[in-house]
Amino acid sequence: MELNTKTKSLAKVQTHLVAECFNKLYIGGEFVDPIDGEKYPTYYPATGELLHEFPRGKANDVESAIAAANAAWAEGTWAGMPAASRAEIVAKMAQGIEDNLEMLAEIEAADVGKPYRQAAKGMGGAAGEGKYWCSLGKALDAEQDVPVNSGGGEGGVPPSEWNVVYRRDPIGVIGLISAWNYPMNVAFRKVAPALVAGNCAILKPSEIAGLSCMFIGKLAQDAGIPPGVFNVVTGDGEAGAALAASPGVSMISFTGSTLTGSKIMGACAQKLSQVALELGGKSALVVFDDTDLDKAVETTMKGFLTNGGQICTAHTRLIVQESIKSPLLKKLKEELEKLPFCTDPITEKDRGDRAWEDGMTDVVQPIVCDSQHKKIMGFLHEAKRAGVEFLTGGNVPDAETVGNSGGYFIQPTVLINVERDADVWQKEVFGPVLSVRSFSTEQEAVLEANSTAFGLASTVMSADPAKAMRVANRIRAGAVYATSNGEGLLAEHPAVSRGGFGCSGIGREKGIIGLHEYTELKSVNYTGFSLADAKK
Ligand code: NAD
Repeated sequence: MELNTKTKSLAKVQTHLVAECFNKLYIGGEFVDPIDGEKYPTYYPATGELLHEFPRGKANDVESAIAAANAAWAEGTWAGMPAASRAEIVAKMAQGIEDNLEMLAEIEAADVGKPYRQAAKGMGGAAGEGKYWCSLGKALDAEQDVPVNSGGGEGGVPPSEWNVVYRRDPIGVIGLISAWNYPMNVAFRKVAPALVAGNCAILKPSEIAGLSCMFIGKLAQDAGIPPGVFNVVTGDGEAGAALAASPGVSMISFTGSTLTGSKIMGACAQKLSQVALELGGKSALVVFDDTDLDKAVETTMKGFLTNGGQICTAHTRLIVQESIKSPLLKKLKEELEKLPFCTDPITEKDRGDRAWEDGMTDVVQPIVCDSQHKKIMGFLHEAKRAGVEFLTGGNVPDAETVGNSGGYFIQPTVLINVERDADVWQKEVFGPVLSVRSFSTEQEAVLEANSTAFGLASTVMSADPAKAMRVANRIRAGAVYATSNGEGLLAEHPAVSRGGFGCSGIGREKGIIGLHEYTELKSVNYTGFSLADAKK
């Protein structure tokens, strides 16, 4: 039988997935089958066809991985190496991502349903960020045995008979639990700093889309990471919960929803272990009436449609100054209704989502899976029932519009005059859904922007730099953007730390502060000899 184009592209990705690393757990330096032998299916979001079945690790597999990691931790070789030497090894893993970029990007395009070009850009970002973490190995070594600093406070210098230095120790065995929307980026952003800092780790990727993360086990093996120092257990919430609850795990670094983050924090509270939580958001785009209309529309589209709205920093609340609300919404509706659907993300190499490159969002990708599709449609049905006004969208596109693909598509949707207490204003929908409110004064704009429990990111657009910065400084969010033209929206840099206020998280990722999250600060008092004597 002649395969259609989409099935052909899927078949190509499936040839990558026959490799051992995509079919086994990685524990103690070896690829192993899950103890109960169960598998989990994952589907191509653009067509709903079966993409792959990967091992379903359960609590018993998690226990084996924790035992392997604790054995490596007790043996101590990895933690005992200078951070710069560890970084040289982890850098080989980052290079491995770059060397396999096309294959990994095709896998993510098929697994998440994101256009290939965007997947490739994300994969390049993961490799680049990994190299950045490795470049910090020397910086971490330079932070060992540093004399105590009074911080400028009076009376803060220890008495002269005391000799005190600070060290940054690894924490121990760390559970890394990641989300599906940018699988490799989210996972490697945890793996690289955790290992460079000297910890042993177990990665538990998302069951919704985590195939690319399974390759990190192979990268670790090829790079020569000692057995047990790094492990990968694929599985669902059961495996994640077992990792979080185990007394053999000293820290959980988690990226995912606020609900799960709260459960993880509860589990860690029982044993007082560390947590770093990168959670959901409901970011605001505040547009003042001196903003160029076309730029405002472009920025709005990029803000809520990048990765199909499935991005933690998606700007899903538009807060527009009353005086330009009508023309802005008119143009937004026109532009959104022109957007084509991306019916074969794997082959979307030429058009793709150019959001990261030139600010344009030119294609609508499918939702990652059936359950997320149902969840988003649930929000829309409830909004309809509650009488929320729809400017555009709100439905599944008809089969013809999406080439009879059978994929999990939703029309880009704009809800207007939304009440402040409505679910679609307060909750993270995680799909192509924008809620709009308006303001008259600067003070109202700030109140609107700060009117949810989240605080991950937000953007202010104005031609007046002083106003843009003033308002940005009053928004309670871990990353704010002030811009006259929308440039840089959603931009991230490995050296720039970010994280959430409120329900968006605890702790910071990236930058030297992000590396410190994987260490414990220790003071060492020494008397009766000099530090130089101790280092002879
Ligand atoms: P999720 O919370 O459903 O799942 C995340 C991970 O947690 C998965 O690996 C899952 O298997 C695991 N898990 C589920 N239940 C668990 C439990 N009880 N104990 C331990 N682990 C458990 O989130 P998701 O749907 O995979 O991801 C989307 C969410 O992630 C969105 O809220 C998004 O905003 C957020 N996110 C945040 C950032 C950030 O940097 N702040 C980045 C990407 C995604």
